[in-house]
Amino acid sequence: MQNAHRFVRFTWKGGCYWGEHEGNHVRRWSGAPYEDGQPTERSCPIGDVEWLPPVVPSKIIAVGLNYAPHVAESASADAIPDEPVIFLKPPTALIATEGSIILPPNVDRVDYEGELGIVIGIGGRAISVAAAMNHVWGWTIVNDVTARNLQKKDKQWTRAKGFDTFCPVGPWVQTGTDIAHSKLTTRLNGQVRQEGSIDQMIFPIPRLISFISGVMTLHPGDLISTGTPAGVGPLAVGDKIEVEIEGIGILVNHVKA
Ligand code: MG
Repeated sequence: MQNAHRFVRFTWKGGCYWGEHEGNHVRRWSGAPYEDGQPTERSCPIGDVEWLPPVVPSKIIAVGLNYAPHVAESASADAIPDEPVIFLKPPTALIATEGSIILPPNVDRVDYEGELGIVIGIGGRAISVAAAMNHVWGWTIVNDVTARNLQKKDKQWTRAKGFDTFCPVGPWVQTGTDIAHSKLTTRLNGQVRQEGSIDQMIFPIPRLISFISGVMTLHPGDLISTGTPAGVGPLAVGDKIEVEIEGIGILVNHVKA
C-alpha cells in the first residue's frame, strides 16, 4: 500500500489527466501513479473538471455470492460456494461518479449492487495469499449494476452484467487506508438499502487476489469487485443511488432511460 491519497482521473480543457483530489483542487499527475506518474505543479479547480472513472483496467473481475446474507436472498443460489464465483465485466461498462446509469430498453429489472473495489498496483500471476496485499494499489467503490431478469434467463452473466454504464466506479482510488473492517452502505433516494461490513466476506481480499491470479494474470490497474452484501433491489428512472464505504468515500449515480 502507498501513502494516503485520493487519486482521480478527469478531463479539463480538452485534456484527460490523472490527478490527486486535494480539497477544492485537483493536482495533476504526469501519468498513472502505479506506473511512472509523478505529481506536477499544476492544479485545477474542482468546479472546472469532469470526472472520469478512476481506473483504466485491462479487465474487471467481479466476485459473485461473497456475503452469506446475499447468497440467502439470491433465488439462483442454494448454498455457500466452496470457492469464489468469478465473472468479467467489460471496461466499456465503466462510468464515473455523478454519471448516469442508462436502463436498456426491454429489460424488466435492473438492480444496484454496492461493492468494494480492489485496484491492482503490481501485476502478477499465481500470487500467494501471503503476498496478495503487496499487489494492491488502493481501494474504490463499485456498483455492480445487474439486469436481474437476464441474469436468471441466461446460463451465464455476461449480458446481464455487461451493458454500457453498468459499472459505476469512484469517486476515487483511495490509497494508504485500512478498510478491513469498514462499513458499506447503499442508499436509494436517501434511504438505506444495503448495510454490510468488509469483514463479512466469505472469501477475504487476499484469498480473492490469489484465486483470481491463479486463473488469469493480473495487470497494474486491473479492478476486482468483491461482491455485494444483502439488500439488492431495483432501480428506476430518476433514482439517485449512492454507495458509501468508510475510509473511501461516496459513489453517486443517477438513473436514466
Ligand atoms: Mg455483484
